[in-house]
Amino acid sequence: MSINQSIFIEKSVGKNGINQPFDVEIIKKQLNAQMPVSYSRLMINGTCDSNTIDTIIDFQKKVLGFRQPDGRVDPNGKTLLALNDPVSSVKWNKNSNQVINGQWTGDSSRWSQTKKLQSLNPVFRVKVQNVLDALTQRGFQPKIFFGWRSVSVQQELFNKGRSKVRFSFHNAQNTDGTPNAYAADIIDKRWGWEKKAEDNGFWSALGEEAKKQGLVWGGDWTSFKDVAHIQGRQNSELAKTKQESGL
Ligand SMILES: [Zn+2]
Repeated sequence: MSINQSIFIEKSVGKNGINQPFDVEIIKKQLNAQMPVSYSRLMINGTCDSNTIDTIIDFQKKVLGFRQPDGRVDPNGKTLLALNDPVSSVKWNKNSNQVINGQWTGDSSRWSQTKKLQSLNPVFRVKVQNVLDALTQRGFQPKIFFGWRSVSVQQELFNKGRSKVRFSFHNAQNTDGTPNAYAADIIDKRWGWEKKAEDNGFWSALGEEAKKQGLVWGGDWTSFKDVAHIQGRQNSELAKTKQESGL
């Protein structure tokens, strides 16, 4: 489900489009690859249904900033160009986040997987999704335990000796206070932190896949091994991240 940077279509797809089945299928696949993780994927077939058109409209509004989206992708149009651009995925995520931006309260370790993903920085989130997909392909059952968490939860963990910092990459936020975490703790839902996770090679697989995405893995730390922890920034960027968070 990765973004293909050179899709093309013969005829228009979408509202009032020609909708040749093979063109429709190409556009649906690309929309799926670009869309925010919280969206449900379009069924891949040659039918341009109302879901497909709504998704094109949402893309045109949130990525291209169209005030009057036409819901159609033309062979040489702006919408197709944007669909070929990997940056669109980041924009789409970000602008959907602002709309969803509802309740970021309660125990964040109990949020749904979707909400935990939403609590991550958009660029980091795409990489975490790739790690989760790769682990699943390797037969693991990965899930996010903590994405974002509040500074007060961080303080509790610090007091209990479960974290070595009072502010961590898990606490990063946007200036409006919405979560923008640069860290995630990933476990296999069958084993958690039990010894079985290590025996079955889960932590080393997590480290491998995280590093393939250019992420930092806590299992590499010598002073404070944190095998479930992956992050999108270097430890040296912590102060900068705190400042950006307005904390
Ligand atoms: Zn962590």
